[in-house]
Amino acid sequence: MKPDVILAGAGLANGLIALALTEARPDARILMLDRAAGPSQTHTWSFHDPDLSAAWHRRLAPAIRCRWQGQDVRFPDHARTLRTGYASLDSARLARQLADAPGICLRWNAEITGLDAQGVTLGAERIGAACVIDGRGAASSRHLATGYQKFVGIELETSAPHGVMRPMIMDATVPQMDGYRFVYLLPFSPTRLLIEDTRYSDGACLNEEAVARDITQYARQKGWSGHEARRERGVLPIALAHDAEAFWAESRDGPVPVGMRAGLFHPVTGYSLPIAAQVADVVAAAGPTTPEAFEAVRSYALARADEDRFLRLLSRMLFRGAAPAERYRVISRFYRLPEPLIERFYAGRLTRMDRMRIIIGKPPIPVRDALSCLREAPLLKDRS
Ligand SMILES: Cc1cc2nc3c(=O)[nH]c(=O)nc-3n(C[C@H](O)[C@H](O)[C@H](O)COP(=O)(O)OP(=O)(O)OC[C@H]3O[C@@H](n4cnc5c(N)ncnc54)[C@H](O)[C@@H]3O)c2cc1C
Repeated sequence: MKPDVILAGAGLANGLIALALTEARPDARILMLDRAAGPSQTHTWSFHDPDLSAAWHRRLAPAIRCRWQGQDVRFPDHARTLRTGYASLDSARLARQLADAPGICLRWNAEITGLDAQGVTLGAERIGAACVIDGRGAASSRHLATGYQKFVGIELETSAPHGVMRPMIMDATVPQMDGYRFVYLLPFSPTRLLIEDTRYSDGACLNEEAVARDITQYARQKGWSGHEARRERGVLPIALAHDAEAFWAESRDGPVPVGMRAGLFHPVTGYSLPIAAQVADVVAAAGPTTPEAFEAVRSYALARADEDRFLRLLSRMLFRGAAPAERYRVISRFYRLPEPLIERFYAGRLTRMDRMRIIIGKPPIPVRDALSCLREAPLLKDRS
């Protein structure tokens, strides 16, 4: 049966689009294609409660692995517990939810060799559809200059209760190396703990075994032992400069790019779940053809890119204005700000007043260095 919508890639962005589409257009036939053999075991997607609308909290409930009330951060000069709730989905649960949803056909082992606005090619097979959406994951673009957030996460089944009660969003009391370094902890059960070692670095190279050794050392210092149950890794882009107009002009007449591929992620954290939920709503509300969905997502993305100018400035201050070993100071200072502002930062909804509060007062980096970060155009010129 010919599908109405083809979702190229069955990752986070297209997963959320499929969920939104089945609700908005229950009669639509949705075909999801992914090259992987099945759902990845190497992905947990986390978010802060205020990142998502009530509708998305409801929609994603079946895919949630764990929810927590509150979260901690720790820096060399202060520590803080925040009240904001936090939650994690995992890719296996999301894939099960998609497979059970009416109207969605999810095909694994489906390597897409070509795609355009009218359909996809899988080797010798051609499948056409009125709407084709490209969510095949991150791709570099000359219209986006980035730094990197690199991490390795080891999920440990501890031999005794680990005692961590809430997510530790950042433990930056660890030795600083390869840029801003912190450890992130998610306690999935009293004896199950994800320990993730993250670095905000200039280069994309990730030495997984060396980072894994640093995690083992951190665990030893905390008195945790046990066996490794699962591992995840990532090198996420952090947006320093973006020319969204040029990006979307180049993609015109093709399928609709979404997710990391379309630069639709938080410029400072590299996380994409909250934006992916908003884009899914945009696609679900758009007309049923590729050009209509393209125009709707493009308008959203241009407005988002404009709104995110300030966040990209913060990324530049972090990467270009602060020496790698001093980057933690910028984040530490940020975490002294009021909690509602921190929530709006993660959700990508900073107000004008929030921006002023982040910038004014004792500057986190010398004024001269901050001034040199103001313009994004020079970073893009280097790439053309
Ligand atoms: C380990 C890890 C943890 C992360 N944790 C978080 C988090 O907690 N919160 C958050 O908001 N963000 C998180 N991120 C960042 C970001 O949200 C994710 O990278 C997210 O998965 C991006 O969604 P996406 O749909 O753009 O790409 P993906 O989820 O990567 O999906 C792309 C899909 O396309 C498929 N594909 C690629 N090429 C082809 C092809 N030729 N044919 C067929 N299929 C193809 C891939 O197999 C993949 O399944 C994390 C990233 C990583 C790597």
